[in-house]
Amino acid sequence: MAEQPGLPQEFLNAIQADFPADFLTTQAEELVNYGKDWTKVFPPNPSAIVFPRTTLEVARFAKLCSKHQVAIVPSGGRTGLSGGAVAAKGEVVLSVTKMNHMGVVDTLSQTLKVQAGAVTEAVHKHCEPHGLTWPIDFASKGSSHVGGNISTNAGGIKVIHYGMTRNWVLGLQVVTMNGDILELNGALEKNNTGTDLRQLFIGSEGTLGIITEATLKLARIPKALDVFFFALDDMSAVLKLFHEARRAPFTLMAFETLTNNCLEAVQGHLAVKSPFDKKYGAYVLMEVERPSSPDAQSVLDAWLGSLFENNLVLDGTIAQSPREARDLWSLREGISESIYQVGFLHKNDIALPIAALESFIKEMYAMFTKRHSEFEIYLFGHIGDGNLHVNTMMPKGMERDVFLKACHEADLDLFALVQKYQGSISAEHGIGLLKKEWLKYSRSGPEMAILRSLKKALDPQNLLNPGKIFD
Ligand SMILES: Cc1cc2nc3c(=O)[nH]c(=O)nc-3n(C[C@H](O)[C@H](O)[C@H](O)COP(=O)(O)OP(=O)(O)OC[C@H]3O[C@@H](n4cnc5c(N)ncnc54)[C@H](O)[C@@H]3O)c2cc1C
Repeated sequence: MAEQPGLPQEFLNAIQADFPADFLTTQAEELVNYGKDWTKVFPPNPSAIVFPRTTLEVARFAKLCSKHQVAIVPSGGRTGLSGGAVAAKGEVVLSVTKMNHMGVVDTLSQTLKVQAGAVTEAVHKHCEPHGLTWPIDFASKGSSHVGGNISTNAGGIKVIHYGMTRNWVLGLQVVTMNGDILELNGALEKNNTGTDLRQLFIGSEGTLGIITEATLKLARIPKALDVFFFALDDMSAVLKLFHEARRAPFTLMAFETLTNNCLEAVQGHLAVKSPFDKKYGAYVLMEVERPSSPDAQSVLDAWLGSLFENNLVLDGTIAQSPREARDLWSLREGISESIYQVGFLHKNDIALPIAALESFIKEMYAMFTKRHSEFEIYLFGHIGDGNLHVNTMMPKGMERDVFLKACHEADLDLFALVQKYQGSISAEHGIGLLKKEWLKYSRSGPEMAILRSLKKALDPQNLLNPGKIFD
């Protein structure tokens, strides 16, 4: 997309005449704040930021932008990790921050209607007194928005049990670039009236429409959870443990892994300690819902005993209180922010079929050793969902440009391997600006042609989040 050549005067006059006085800002600090997301690699350069409060304002604004050919970047909590909410080419950022109203929790249908700017964690707190939750959960939930979660079809730490965000969106209200307001599916559990348009907007990273409201599907909060932290030899043992956990007599709520350098990074940055005195090759954080049967404890003890008898786990601990559970979780959830403190790093977020994980991981390490041995790999992720976060740290003394070039070459090898195993180059973070060069490794030519025609149908002037996902 070409750089926006400054906003047309007629457009600015219409904003002044038809919208509230605090609707638009061009204050330098706000432009920087709202022009970027967590990737922090794309310099922000928006023309202005607008803060609608209602769907009607969003619709009128979209229509005005279409008339004057002004590009919009929809923006949520700006915690995205792919540059989807970045405005680097003079676009206007449409922030839904002020659209954060949450309705009454409907305990009969177990739903909640919210505006797109409702913060993920605020939704959890709003539902908690009713014994219900919106089960989208990850480290950035204190800042991310429902609209952003839906636009990225976010994953997180509970996908193994609940699935992705897509599963928890009953209805959507979406504004298209021509100013139409679409009400998609309302609060219907069942609605087989042809193609489900709601699904088009989930995961489309703000390129097809602006999400203004959502009817969320809620889950009951599990009764008693046990949190374990295990030390193991290596990733191969992690996968064997996962196999055992899948067959165990309890419900698996989370199964997360990390390597030792990730654990050390967290300990170096946050006030938390590893439960173990020794270092191990890999760790697993496992959360389970305790069965309510009278023999639940003895069944769980027997299962745990067998892990040690078979030398599958080398050490382990179980949280004895909610506080200890939080501390164990922080060893996993603190990784993203902590590894940024170690040095400059390059992130990848890939997905593999679960059955292929073991051979993929072996081949991936062999590939790095053979072709990119200068990199230290910080590996962690939602391994129970086949989702690995592969982070490469810039070696000390290496110039940033040299590092980025070397990462580009390593990505070529990594994505070729992902493609060989029929995996995905983006498991949950999306494509945005960061990964669009690699999309061809996960999407075929005919698929791309369909995606392009959908974009053309909904946004013929290419004004909505232009240049994101594909050019
Ligand atoms: C520490 C950390 C941990 C994370 N862990 C996870 C994780 O475990 N799993 C995971 O999936 N993600 C994770 N993320 C990434 C991020 O939090 C998610 O992608 C989240 O869903 C983004 O929400 P947001 O409101 O911040 O969206 P933003 O970053 O503001 O936007 C993301 C995309 O959605 C679009 N968008 C935003 N709002 C709207 C709207 N109303 N209408 C249309 N489009 C819109 C934007 O244009 C952009 O393309 C993590 C991020 C951080 C910083």
